Amino acid sequence: MSAATGSALPHPYRVVSRHVDTADTVTLELDHDGAPLPGFAPGQFAMLTAFGIGEVPISLCGLPEASDGSARRLTHTLRAVGAVTRALHAATPGTVIGVRGPFGTSWDVPSAAGHDVVIVAGGIGLAPVRPILQTVLAERTRYGEVVLLVGARTPADLLYADELRRWAAAGVQVGVTVDRPSDGWTGHVGVVPALIPAARFDPGRTVAFVCGPEVMMRFTARALLDRGVPADRLRVSLERNMRCGLGWCGHCQLGPLLLCRDGPVVDYTRAEPLMTVREL
Ligand SMILES: Cc1cc2nc3c(=O)[nH]c(=O)nc-3n(C[C@H](O)[C@H](O)[C@H](O)COP(=O)(O)OP(=O)(O)OC[C@H]3O[C@@H](n4cnc5c(N)ncnc54)[C@H](O)[C@@H]3O)c2cc1C
Repeated sequence: MSAATGSALPHPYRVVSRHVDTADTVTLELDHDGAPLPGFAPGQFAMLTAFGIGEVPISLCGLPEASDGSARRLTHTLRAVGAVTRALHAATPGTVIGVRGPFGTSWDVPSAAGHDVVIVAGGIGLAPVRPILQTVLAERTRYGEVVLLVGARTPADLLYADELRRWAAAGVQVGVTVDRPSDGWTGHVGVVPALIPAARFDPGRTVAFVCGPEVMMRFTARALLDRGVPADRLRVSLERNMRCGLGWCGHCQLGPLLLCRDGPVVDYTRAEPLMTVREL
């Protein structure tokens, strides 16, 4: 998993499109309004500034288009949960946002070539794994079975519904489950790890990518290990309160790791002992 160190000063980017995904979540496409940042890899994150309010870490959720390796366009899906994400959520086309990055480790998707790929996401955790799907589908023949299992609170909270249908049509095994069904929902109800036993993949030749709330990642990892996926081929994305993004301030320390630098994507062999210690 490669790591990158981004800038300490925000670069101006302008919102060029705003797509409403769910009641509290939007996808913003940003275009550089000055010098573009270096390109981001799937799994890495940016620090986004709503000027006058604050700065928050938000993952890359779409592959950059530029062929020169720079981040001319950036796509971010964000859920409004507090002051900064509410301000970013409200940003309309033309609004200038500050962007620092790229930060953190990547999913290292190419290392899964020749393997089955199993992706498990909970809630907004589907955003950071979206570029994994895009990478794999762009070079479909390099990978074996591709499985995407998604959990959402309700059907109305499900992200990228159209894309889920397109990915299924492209041969991805897509499984969706919700905590609380609404009228007319005919799909699965329950937690996302429950979808793992029925998915078709060869555990011995699988690389798994997991992103979501920490408790969901723990149970998902347990279900994948029980199926026989080796722990060193299981990657999780860990979130902590990130400030500098550069490994300087220590806000995102988790045991020996500074997650803005050594994460967010961490091999489960390193993550597991840290995820099971309370209050660490
Ligand atoms: C590496 C990384 C990547 C992320 N990627 C995305 C993304 O792609 N899309 C997205 O919507 N969000 C993402 N987040 C979460 C996002 O950074 C937080 O929601 C944001 O920092 C909240 O800031 P706020 O000022 O709006 O709210 P605050 O007032 O800081 O918090 C509001 C509520 O959200 C909770 N909260 C704050 N930070 C987090 C966090 N890191 N994880 C879980 N709960 C939190 C607080 O405990 C509080 O209950 C990511 C976080 C990290 C660390």
